[in-house]
Amino acid sequence: DETLSALPQTGEREVETTLRPRKLDEFVGQPRVREQLQLVLESARRRGVPPDHVLLSGPPGLGKTSLAMIVAAELDATIRITSGPALERAGDLAAMLSNLAEGDVLFIDEIHRIARPAEEMLYLAMEDFRVDVVVGKGPGATSIPLEIAPFTLVGATTRSGALTGPLRDRFGFTGQMEFYSDDELDLVVRRAAAILGIEIDAEGCVEIAGRSRGTPRIANRLLRRVRDYAEVRADGTVDREIARAALAVYDVDELGLDRLDRAVLTALCRSFGGGPVGVTTLAVAVGEEPGTVEEVCEPYLVRAGMLARTPRGRVATPSAWEHLGLTAPAGYGS
Ligand code: ADP
Repeated sequence: DETLSALPQTGEREVETTLRPRKLDEFVGQPRVREQLQLVLESARRRGVPPDHVLLSGPPGLGKTSLAMIVAAELDATIRITSGPALERAGDLAAMLSNLAEGDVLFIDEIHRIARPAEEMLYLAMEDFRVDVVVGKGPGATSIPLEIAPFTLVGATTRSGALTGPLRDRFGFTGQMEFYSDDELDLVVRRAAAILGIEIDAEGCVEIAGRSRGTPRIANRLLRRVRDYAEVRADGTVDREIARAALAVYDVDELGLDRLDRAVLTALCRSFGGGPVGVTTLAVAVGEEPGTVEEVCEPYLVRAGMLARTPRGRVATPSAWEHLGLTAPAGYGS
């Protein structure tokens, strides 16, 4: 995968592990979610019970996995990690749940993609710390209730709208993650540079922060690509000029839009006259999965004021035409 999208790339997990903030105090940005979470954790600690189940919602790369790990660390608890797509059969989940020790944190990434039977099992587990294991088939089948240790579920999703009502209702707290400001990303870049031993000046940091699509994962990734450039083409130190030159090589524009973002906008304007067009049609035009366009590209394009989601489909804003250097048809948008 050569795009600089917000999704994790092959081999990136290891670097992400080194760069992950470990404590709530180390976690940059998201002041609202951080404060809310702090209260949830502190009150549970005082009452001596596992905290309510937590749902973290927002675009990829904003720190949902990091926060889940922080929740466990703040509670001095063990974290077990799985994902919605991995829980295809209810039995997979039953095995996971029955292995939990009291107070453990169970993290389910992409929880909106969990299969229905596993989801139904999760209801009872979240509510009563119990699972019903079905033994046998047909009329002779019996269900055996099994107690599980009280635990805290942390779910992460890029599409909270895709969660069923009953599942959403069982979370005591939902943290809505927002895109980061440039100042917050500046801190993320500084912190990562210090950890990775990259020499970078203040202007270099600002340059990278401003082009990171509001996303720490991308900020860290751009920092590493700029470091590569600085080492190969210069003396290894990153300043504004080096950052700019490197980002041009990697097709990241001044707004931080990557190749896929621009492909989506270009198709929208060139092939569909600026819309409205359905997201599936748009995704086919750029050769991507509709889910990727919807969950990875669009949230930032909307926030950057380039794209609008309307009941009739996606529409390019006048800024999108301008950004692409295209001329909108006469009377466009009126
Ligand atoms: P998500 O689960 O939302 O896709 P992650 O938690 O995996 O996002 O974060 C991706 C990477 O971005 C992490 O490895 C971490 O290095 C970095 N990161 C995310 N949030 C922060 C933050 N608030 N402060 C510093 N680094 C962060």
